[in-house]
Amino acid sequence: MQVPLLDLSKQLDPLRDEIIEAVTEVIDSTAYILGPRVERLEDEIAAYCGGGIGIGVASGTDALLAALMALGVGPGDLVLTTPYSFFATMGCIVRLGATPLFVDIDPVSFNIDPDKIDEALAMDPARTAKIKLILPVHLYGQCADMERIMAVSRRYNIPVLEDAAQAIGASCPITDNGATSWHRAGNIGTAGCFSFFPSKNLGGIGDGGMVITRDEALAELIRIIRVHGGAPKYHHKIIGGNFRLDPIQAAVLSVKLPHLDSWHEARRDNADLYGRLFSRKGLGDFIIQPRAVYRAAAELLEPVPDFHIYNQYVIRAKDRDGLLAFLVNEGIGVEIYYPIPLHKQKCLEELGYNDLSFPEAEKAAAETLALPIYPEMTDSMQEYVVDRIAAFYEKNRD
Ligand SMILES: *Cc1c(COP(=O)(O)O)cnc(C)c1O
Repeated sequence: MQVPLLDLSKQLDPLRDEIIEAVTEVIDSTAYILGPRVERLEDEIAAYCGGGIGIGVASGTDALLAALMALGVGPGDLVLTTPYSFFATMGCIVRLGATPLFVDIDPVSFNIDPDKIDEALAMDPARTAKIKLILPVHLYGQCADMERIMAVSRRYNIPVLEDAAQAIGASCPITDNGATSWHRAGNIGTAGCFSFFPSKNLGGIGDGGMVITRDEALAELIRIIRVHGGAPKYHHKIIGGNFRLDPIQAAVLSVKLPHLDSWHEARRDNADLYGRLFSRKGLGDFIIQPRAVYRAAAELLEPVPDFHIYNQYVIRAKDRDGLLAFLVNEGIGVEIYYPIPLHKQKCLEELGYNDLSFPEAEKAAAETLALPIYPEMTDSMQEYVVDRIAAFYEKNRD
């Protein structure tokens, strides 16, 4: 049996006619730059995330870059972030001449560890004064512990930009004035960044991204930065770039958005089934499934919503590299997100980062493996995946 990591054709099939119609409409309109389709998607995404203002941009990377620029991040600034993420999180910081200040991850959730943020900020007041921004990443589809990150943000008066590229629709409990409620990823900090890369839960037929924020002045600034910083056109008080979302992508994403919650639900069902299959096979000694624990959630009234959107279903596995090679050979698509922590990337060698140590990020890079979790995969595909994992450990048991 072949089980790909992701099969986008299964999502496309039932929506093909609607997508072609939406794309054709854009082509016929001859409105090819920004315009009504982009504005419509901006409103839809902001509403989906619980409010605020959306600014459509060309990719998740450009969402980060434009937001960092608008928040004034530049040379001499530090940005506190995680060493375990997709490259763009750190790449955008360094591109702007700022310096990442890494804080290790929590081993259970793989997200930045709030205790370690506290430690890092208390350590050196002179260094803390240079921190312009806290940039948490909601890895794999579950939020970093935003309640505690926002508490730190208020205590030190440092804004928070959320990298929610993998987490559209994920939620996280926040207690405010004694009342706890669930908030959606990207809508908790000063601004949030989303990606519509095809493999994200809401993916276009190419690149796309969005920033959302409740701060009207910030939204306006990002809109200006999106068009080279010209306001009015050809008058540049600031320097921006071409960060515009393509209306063809916006039109496709508007067709897909109404289905997003059912896709999340199907991914959650798949995650549940993996859990049952793993315990039935007695694989607990060999693999661990990470799951965020939010302190506030324990005090909440029922129901606790399904907060994880499973952009990736990631396990920690014994002999990860052996398992990976075995599964690929058995026709199963698996991937490592991510094999090299950011501080170990070659491009940071000259800045002296390669010698730093973030043990949990390094351990994650050595042990994690993403299994197929896409909404349309069948139960028998999942049974095959778990059966093959069991076979691998059976063969290597000693
Ligand atoms: C995908 C992703 C990005 C970048 O998004 P693109 O649309 O590919 O530019 C940034 N951060 C994280 C965590 C991502 O997963």
